Parts: sequence; structure tokens; C-alpha cells
Amino acid sequence: MRIDLHAHSNVSDGTEPPRELVRRAASAGLDVVAITDHDTVSGWVEAATAALDVGIRVIPGLELSCTRGAASVHVLGYRIDPTRPGVAEELADIRTGRTDRLPAMLAALARHGVDLSTEQVMAAAGGADSLGRPHVADALIAAGYVADRGEAFDVWLAEGRPAHISRYAPDVIDGIRLIRAAGGVAVIAHPWGRESRDTMTPDVLASLADAGLAGLEAHHDDHDEATERALVALASDLGLVATGGSDWHGSGKVGHHLGSRLTDPAAFDDLLSRLPSAG
Ligand code: AMP
Ligand code: ZN
Ligand code: FE
Ligand code: FE
Repeated sequence: MRIDLHAHSNVSDGTEPPRELVRRAASAGLDVVAITDHDTVSGWVEAATAALDVGIRVIPGLELSCTRGAASVHVLGYRIDPTRPGVAEELADIRTGRTDRLPAMLAALARHGVDLSTEQVMAAAGGADSLGRPHVADALIAAGYVADRGEAFDVWLAEGRPAHISRYAPDVIDGIRLIRAAGGVAVIAHPWGRESRDTMTPDVLASLADAGLAGLEAHHDDHDEATERALVALASDLGLVATGGSDWHGSGKVGHHLGSRLTDPAAFDDLLSRLPSAG
């Protein structure tokens, strides 16, 4: 069983439609793939339909933008019911925050002599439900300012760079509670990747476990081998599931191929057994 629990489509900042995500997951020899777009579930129906065609299992998921103090934390939520009270409203608030920061980003770029319009970013986003910095990156590429998304983040968009503008996201504890209240299971994405490494200390992760967290995404391209081992050990100490996923974004992120990181089948079963409905 090959299980990849983290992949993005073009309803957020991936480059391929949900059906293509699923088709490529099957080609990559996966048995299970989760669609985990940022702050939206709008790719689920297309992905589920494609799954019937190609005969693999698709887990409906999302990657919820959260914060812990000033730091950004991503929480993977699987099998939520998006019709539960408050869920659609919270996701809409986060997506509004994503869109509302755009004028400030463009103004910051303009101050540095980079001339980019809202229309150029919207064209790059191609109707995505959830607008992200990678779409601004794609507009910068299209306008000839940078060569790829990596350079766009390094020069302009990453935290601490000139065009980084913070946006609304709920506290990580509230995010975990929302996912659980909606009938899903919550996993901290890339806990010791770039943005959350300093914040997600073992003590903090222990407090999140108490709040209902189910797992840690130990196996991720942003973690080196020693980090993965340490996270697997920590998950075990805290009674959490150690998962893995590629964080595939199509051609939008180098080094993150579908199936490049997997979730152990026993860990997958453990994760599903923690669904509130499994009790
Ligand atoms: P946002 O959702 O607007 O906060 O943008 C963050 C997203 O940008 C992450 O979830 C990644 O998908 C992507 N990202 C972050 N850093 C990079 C990078 N160096 N190269 C390409 N994509 C990146
Ligand atoms: Zn992304
Ligand atoms: Fe993430
Ligand atoms: Fe992701």
C-alpha cells in the first residue's frame, strides 16, 4: 500500500486540476492520495469522481492556515464534514484574508520598482478558490521578474522579505478544534519545516495533543533524515500518529513529487481509527 496524504491542486496553489492530481497519483503507483488544498474543499468532488475512473482511493482533506503567536502553522485536516456549523464561514474568512492582503503586497512590490497589477495576479491564479503567494510568484515569473517560485519567495515573498504581508488565520488550537468538531482528524503539516520549526517545540506539540491533535507529518521533504527520525520518536512519545506526504504542487514546487513521501499503512489505519465517528 502506497499512501500519500498531502497534495495540492489548482483550486489552491497547485498547478494541476484535481482530476489530474488523481490521475497522476494512480500513475505514480499510489493506492491512496489525499487532496489537501489550502483553506478550501472545492476540489473534492472532481477528485472523488476521478478516483472512481482510475480506481484509487482519494481522502478528502485540506491544509488549514493557522497561527501560533506570530508564526504560521499548517494543519492538515482529513475527512471533515464541511457542512458542519462554522466550517464554511471560517474557511471563507481565511480566504478573504488571503485576497485582502494583495493590494498591500502589490504596493510593497511597487515601492521596490516591481510593477505588477491585480489583473496579472488573477490571471496567474486562473480562478483558484484560494489565492496564495505562489500565484503572485507565478505573476512575477510571467512578467519576467524572477525565474521560478523559489526565487520569488527568496527575493520577495518569504517571511522577512519586502512583499511579505501577514494575513488572518485562526490560532492552531482553534484550528484543531474546528477540524475535530467537523468530524475530522488533525495533523500538523511539516512541523519542523521552515516556518514553524522554532515554534513547534515538543512542549507546544504536547499541548496540541491534549487539544485533540491526531498526528505529526514526520515524513516531508522539508525535513532531513535526522529530523524525520526525531519527529517519529516524538509522535510515539506523545501518542500521535507519524504520517507522511509529498506536498505535491504539480510543477509549482521542486523536489515534491507525488509519492515522494509516504504514510505507513499501519499509521494510516491508526489515523482513521481516531476519526470521531470511528469510536
Ligand atoms: P501562502 O499560502 O500565501 O501563505 O503561501 C505559502 C505557500 O507557498 C506554501 O504553502 C507553499 O505551497 C508555497 N511556498 C512556500 N515557500 C515556497 C518556495 N520557496 N517555493 C515554492 N513554493 C513555496
Ligand atoms: Zn501550497
Ligand atoms: Fe504547508
Ligand atoms: Fe501543503
